[in-house]
Amino acid sequence: MQARVLVSMVKDKRGCYISSYPLGLLIKGARLRNWEGMYDVLIENSTISEISPEIKNSDSDIIEARGRILMPSFTDMHFHLDSALTQGLFSGNKSGTLLEGIEIWSQLKRRLTTEDIFNRASRAVKFIVSNGTTRLRTHADVSDPELRTLKALKLVKEEFKDIIDIQITAFPQDGIFTNKNNSELLEKAVEEGADNIGIIPHNEFTREDGIRSIDFAFDLAKKYGRNIDGHVDETDDEQSRFLEVLAAKTIREGYQGKVAAGHVTAMHSYGGSYMQKIIGMLKLGRITIVANPLVNIHLQGRYDSYPKRRGIARIKQLLAEGINVTLGHDCIMDPWYPMGKGDMLQALFMAVHLEQMTGIDEIKKSFDLITSNPAIALGVSSSYGIQKGRLADLVLLDAKDEVEALAKLLPPLLVIKSGRIVARRNELITSILHKSREEELPKDIIETP
Ligand SMILES: [Zn+2]
Repeated sequence: MQARVLVSMVKDKRGCYISSYPLGLLIKGARLRNWEGMYDVLIENSTISEISPEIKNSDSDIIEARGRILMPSFTDMHFHLDSALTQGLFSGNKSGTLLEGIEIWSQLKRRLTTEDIFNRASRAVKFIVSNGTTRLRTHADVSDPELRTLKALKLVKEEFKDIIDIQITAFPQDGIFTNKNNSELLEKAVEEGADNIGIIPHNEFTREDGIRSIDFAFDLAKKYGRNIDGHVDETDDEQSRFLEVLAAKTIREGYQGKVAAGHVTAMHSYGGSYMQKIIGMLKLGRITIVANPLVNIHLQGRYDSYPKRRGIARIKQLLAEGINVTLGHDCIMDPWYPMGKGDMLQALFMAVHLEQMTGIDEIKKSFDLITSNPAIALGVSSSYGIQKGRLADLVLLDAKDEVEALAKLLPPLLVIKSGRIVARRNELITSILHKSREEELPKDIIETP
């Protein structure tokens, strides 16, 4: 079959280029995640209309996948768009601790305008989408009386809604009861449109305040019909046990499936019998665990001598127990994390190393953490995935399978959202100059059979 055009480009009313495929978009010769063999995938309007070993539809615009892997696009379940890319505005987190990060941010956020936050978050969103993510949950710090971060992130959500679905969690960074205004600000943020309610019980002054903050968040969640999306037990202190409080509350309030607990790094240090009790409660509450491997391997264990704890949620054990586990990138170049480019493959790469999920089958399965598992948490499983009739939210990676994708860590060739190409990459060519000869490196690390 002759490719008519790769992707036809037309201009919209403002003179901007948009991709347009009135006759459909046909991806030819792709490997599909969890499918055997190679397939053609036809996308019409916003959905996958056909999957077959060969589709003859010469009218469609054609993408030649040449044996590369096509999979559902990624979801980042925990991110801070408001602080993203602020590195350079402060002198650096010298101790590398969470607490120094919070202290730097508490000074820095007073200086940021809504416009500043909007501009940086917009740049971050473009990197995030270009790396294959089309769904994102971001926290908005709502400790500022003017709610500038929430205002900015609402604008970002609207501005980029054609390329990424963003949910905003109202996040009480400094605690709900550490200042008399914080609880009111949290409620105001929900009234002004935040999608989820955040908590940070381990940052409250006392254990009692931490418990009270969870009760308060549930009162708001019930009043406004929202879900809970918390920072929970982000510490190496194994006495930090708010996950059990959150799980108990979830079960008692009938909030099963509506609660996500982010970080939960204290869990890394729990004893075996207590962990088993927690697992039972997480199951009953159908709580989603959101691990943030890039940021927590950087922040945790900072008060340890050697051996140092990894300070990561127990992804492997929780998955084996049937708990829904997902990942977040958390931060890019901000007071908490000096690196990152918004790439969930990097987050997954770190996760499989930290949790030693590095058997070939484990690596392949680990992609659930950034695809199907977050779809469960967000309640979109029935419209997401590679299946006829499902939404065409897809990513074409420059690799033949999941293992090669994590080995190479290349940006995707194509990112498709609701049937439209929203990011694409041209060829990257690297050469080796060896014994006076230039040799172009092969595209595949492992030869495709
Ligand atoms: Zn966070």
